[in-house]
Amino acid sequence: MRQITANVFGFSGLMAGRVYAIIEADGISLVDTGLALAASKIVRQLAAHGYLPTDIKQILITHGHGDHIGSLPTLKRLSEATVYASAREKPIIEGREKPVYPPRDTLSGVARWMARDAELLPGTPVDETVGEGDVIPVLGGLHVLEVPGHTPGHLAFWQPQRRILFCGDVILNLFGLRLPFAAFTPDMAANRASVVKLAALAPDIVCFGHGNPLQKNAAQALEAFARQVKTSA
Ligand SMILES: [Zn+2]
Repeated sequence: MRQITANVFGFSGLMAGRVYAIIEADGISLVDTGLALAASKIVRQLAAHGYLPTDIKQILITHGHGDHIGSLPTLKRLSEATVYASAREKPIIEGREKPVYPPRDTLSGVARWMARDAELLPGTPVDETVGEGDVIPVLGGLHVLEVPGHTPGHLAFWQPQRRILFCGDVILNLFGLRLPFAAFTPDMAANRASVVKLAALAPDIVCFGHGNPLQKNAAQALEAFARQVKTSA
């Protein structure tokens, strides 16, 4: 676990799907949970800092993909934390609906090769559904933003005073900023609009679902990426 900024930590060695811990006096909040394999690593890394799984009080989910909710069943069981997600992702996270992937015949090249059939994920109850404008009482107020495209009910979380953005898979930071993989993004046009919406926040720190956080010139990098995304549409 590595500190990103005051109160905000990122877990290490989770393979795919970044998980963030927001550590405050009244408990720990997680943003996403990684693959199923991540749970034991998350518990161990928290223990190394003197925390128990029961110190996790909130789990915020950006979207219902296996690399973001894989450890949710285990972490929910160990912590009994309150799980937050959008109403649209709730049935997917609860294992009652499959994630929405683009039809294979609409994909080409690498995306077609990467394409998978959507399957039901192991379900975990969502306790609180949140949407645009809601403020979660974490980190002095985390504002909920609806940023659909990669999934229909994708959320981002934004702390406006400290200018910290958790953007999930709307933007990936893998060898530079990039759009999410087409094979798992049913509405790329909507995702592009979501990139523009997030870039307009001019964040100081961006914590991605995949790739290292951006802590230097983040606003400029996002703005340049949004411009590129708009012109290449
Ligand atoms: Zn995803």
